[in-house]
Amino acid sequence: MTARILNGKELAETVRAEVKAGVSAFVALRGRAPGLDVVIVGEDPASVVYTRNKEKAALEVGMRGKLHKLAGDTTEVDLLALVAQLNADPHVDGILVQLPLPSHIDAEKVTRAIAPHKDVDGFHPTNAGLLAIGRADKALVPCTPRGCMKLIALSGVPLAGARAVIVGRSNIVGKPVAQLLLAQSATVTIAHSRTRDLPAVCREADVLVAAVGRPELVRGDWIKPGAVVIDVGINRVDDPQNPGKTRLVGDVAFAEASQHAGFITPVPGGVGPLTIACLLENTLLAARARVEI
Ligand code: NDP
Repeated sequence: MTARILNGKELAETVRAEVKAGVSAFVALRGRAPGLDVVIVGEDPASVVYTRNKEKAALEVGMRGKLHKLAGDTTEVDLLALVAQLNADPHVDGILVQLPLPSHIDAEKVTRAIAPHKDVDGFHPTNAGLLAIGRADKALVPCTPRGCMKLIALSGVPLAGARAVIVGRSNIVGKPVAQLLLAQSATVTIAHSRTRDLPAVCREADVLVAAVGRPELVRGDWIKPGAVVIDVGINRVDDPQNPGKTRLVGDVAFAEASQHAGFITPVPGGVGPLTIACLLENTLLAARARVEI
């Protein structure tokens, strides 16, 4: 069997076009654009690229996007003051504080300080709690998990009663993906570093989501024939074809897994592009919900 590719780049374009249309309608109705404020502390190279892309993406769909660049030695008090100011600003619909934060700042405290209805990352305990009690409709749901669900939907495979295995239990990917799959009536298993016989657990999966951060951990013979495989991992490794260069690989050994899976996401070009598209979607949802309050 050769798997069908679930093309995240194409799907992300569709989502962005839908958001753009939604933004136009919002502007026509409310006389202002939805606003996304992104905060970065320090100059971590990956975070600099991610935050710049988020601001750019917001502007491209007609939102007001603003990047707040704070020095690496910004105090927790000053960061919390900025968050409070953004919480109170009526032109701000979405607030995202880029993680990781420098070690002198308590990231959990900052996450809790963001008003839940402006928490477009969906990491605030109120949003995580709403998701956990089955009220995703009232929550802002984390972006990468939303992207995973859109890719699974693209496969057309029904989730009710399906066996779903998520490898990874982080608060930003593994756990929210599990909640979303459960909400769709899949039978869900969450695996992690202490799971016994991980290959056997994965072989049970009609839908397998790998969010581990270990290059090509999931091998071809771990995949149930015909399964939907969603690879969240982004790992930079040495490229044996180009000595001295690196390349990106996922948490799934793509070439092997493609021989067994029915559907599979590539890395890059799978889950990654959907994360920013879903951030834009969350910002529009937050803006609409706020005017309804
Ligand atoms: P974390 O490091 O927070 O979590 C990794 C999880 O994998 C943990 O639950 C850990 O288990 C589990 N794990 C680690 N090693 C193994 C192993 N050998 N066997 C089974 N489970 C294992 O990572 P994130 O959830 O933040 O990210 C996961 C991956 O997804 C990373 O590659 C990251 O770069 C990528 N990512 C991609 C995004 C995108 O936009 N495409 C967005 C966010 C993340 P335990 O809890 O027991 O330690």
